[in-house]
Amino acid sequence: MKTEITLDGKKIQAQIGKPLIDVASDHGVYIPSLCYMRGKPCLGTCRVCSVRVNGHVMASCTVPVYEGMEVEVDAPDLVDMRKALVEFLFVEGNHNCPSCEKSGRCELQAVGYETGMMVSRFPYRFPVRTRDHASKYIWLERDRCIFCQRCVEFIRDEETGQKIFSIDKRSTHSSIEIDVKLADKMTPKQVKRAADICPVGCIIDKDLGFNKPIGERKYEIKSIKERILKGKTNE
Ligand code: SF4
Ligand code: SF4
Repeated sequence: MKTEITLDGKKIQAQIGKPLIDVASDHGVYIPSLCYMRGKPCLGTCRVCSVRVNGHVMASCTVPVYEGMEVEVDAPDLVDMRKALVEFLFVEGNHNCPSCEKSGRCELQAVGYETGMMVSRFPYRFPVRTRDHASKYIWLERDRCIFCQRCVEFIRDEETGQKIFSIDKRSTHSSIEIDVKLADKMTPKQVKRAADICPVGCIIDKDLGFNKPIGERKYEIKSIKERILKGKTNE
C-alpha cells in the first residue's frame, strides 16, 4: 500500500514499509551509504545514510516508510554530518588510495567524493593492524576495514552456513578475522563476491588483485551516485 510522504519539501507517493533509502533513490535523491546493499537485509552499521525524519536523525536504511513521514536529506547540517561520518572512517583506518588495489572501485573513496570530502577535520589514528594472508585465496588488509559487517553477514560457508568472517574485540581494538579452514573451501566465485561486496580494499582476491587498469574501474566510469540512482546494487 502507498502513502504520501514529504522528501526535502516535495510530496511523493511511497510504498509503506519500503526502506526509506530505496524510496529516496527511486525519486532521484541520492543518500550515501557504506553498509547498505539494496535488496539485502539492513545492517545499520555505518550510519552514513543518516537523514532527519520528523525531527529525529536516523539512518535511512533502518527506517521503513510510514504515513506522515517528513524527511530531510539535503539540509546543510545533515550534509555536513554525513561528510563528518565519512571523515571519521578515513581517520579510523589507514587509507592511501594511490597505492590501493581497490582505488576506483572503492565505495569509501567514491562516497568521499560524493560527500565533498577533501581532507578529514579529525586527527588520524594510524592504527596498527597486521595483514592476514594465511588463507589460500584471500588477503586481508585489516587497516582498511570499516567494520560494515557485509562480509560477516553475507558470505557464508556454502555447505554449513557458518560465518567465514567475524569481527574480534570491540571499539578501537576491533579487527576483522577470517576462518582460514572455511575460507580455503571457498569457490573462486565466492572469493570474488567477498572482494566485491567489501566496500573498501580490505578483502583482496589473491588471484584477481590489480586485474583492471586504473582509469577503467567502475566508479571512474560512472559515479556511485549515478549507479545507485539507476537502481544498481553495490555489487
Ligand atoms: S580502501 Fe578505498 S579509501 Fe581506503 S585506501 Fe583503498 S581506495 Fe582509498
Ligand atoms: S572486511 Fe570489508 S566487508 Fe568485511 S567488515 Fe571490513 S569493510 Fe566490511
